[in-house]
Amino acid sequence: MISNIHTHSTFCDGHDTPEALVQTALDKGMIALGFSGHSYTPFDSYTGMTPEIVTLYRAEIRRLQRVYADRISIFLGIEQDLDSDLDDLDWDYRIGSVHFMKHGSSYSPIDISAAKLQEMLDTWYDGQILPMVEEYCSRVLGMLDTMHPDIIGHFDLYRKFNDKLHYLDETDARYQDLVRDTLQTLVRKGALLEVNLGGMANGYTHEPYPSVTLLRFLQQEKARLIITTDCHRAPHLDYHYHETVKLLQQLGFPSMVVMGRNGFEEVPL
Ligand SMILES: [Zn+2]
Ligand SMILES: [Zn+2]
Repeated sequence: MISNIHTHSTFCDGHDTPEALVQTALDKGMIALGFSGHSYTPFDSYTGMTPEIVTLYRAEIRRLQRVYADRISIFLGIEQDLDSDLDDLDWDYRIGSVHFMKHGSSYSPIDISAAKLQEMLDTWYDGQILPMVEEYCSRVLGMLDTMHPDIIGHFDLYRKFNDKLHYLDETDARYQDLVRDTLQTLVRKGALLEVNLGGMANGYTHEPYPSVTLLRFLQQEKARLIITTDCHRAPHLDYHYHETVKLLQQLGFPSMVVMGRNGFEEVPL
């Protein structure tokens, strides 16, 4: 693995300091490492950085950039939630993610716990997942138009607790039509999608986001993909990376995007 661009540290909900993560990246022979702290989201008491912490986070990553410049390229990114205010700070890149659903002026998290998701489905969607996925998809499309993120984060994040709760039949034709239409629009608008291994690393899912079925569809659509581990613990920095490269090769992707020493680049598979 040469790099990872979806990395959380102790500045948000990660377990390790940025410097410990840089050391791990060096130990693993990586040439680039991108940090992606959670953006400040006023109603989010779960994971977001406060504005004061954002300032400290930026200073620390810029410091590490200088200190380690001759050994590894470090990038200062952010995982920008759709529902957090866009700042005018200079980030090396933004990952755009939808972590919440919105009902009137209330927000409810998709990925904090199975119980929270179930409660949202029951109170806002009559226990049904498809209406939620429909809204989620339109929120992702809206995010692309308003935020213009460099990368679309974990496309089908709502699958996170499905192995446990079985609220979604992924073979349902209505579901497949809905998400394929959405993915097709994203690809045609030039979006770069991540293949996110965070759900697998933490034992929630047995497939990446997006699922293998959706990756197969994305191959037909000639989508541009970048593999990330959505790392919250240093040992997971390269979790399942090589297996996922093989998966993309088997699915017939001719190339993928990686973060190289000087930024994003396309590499053949
Ligand atoms: Zn996320
Ligand atoms: Zn993340």
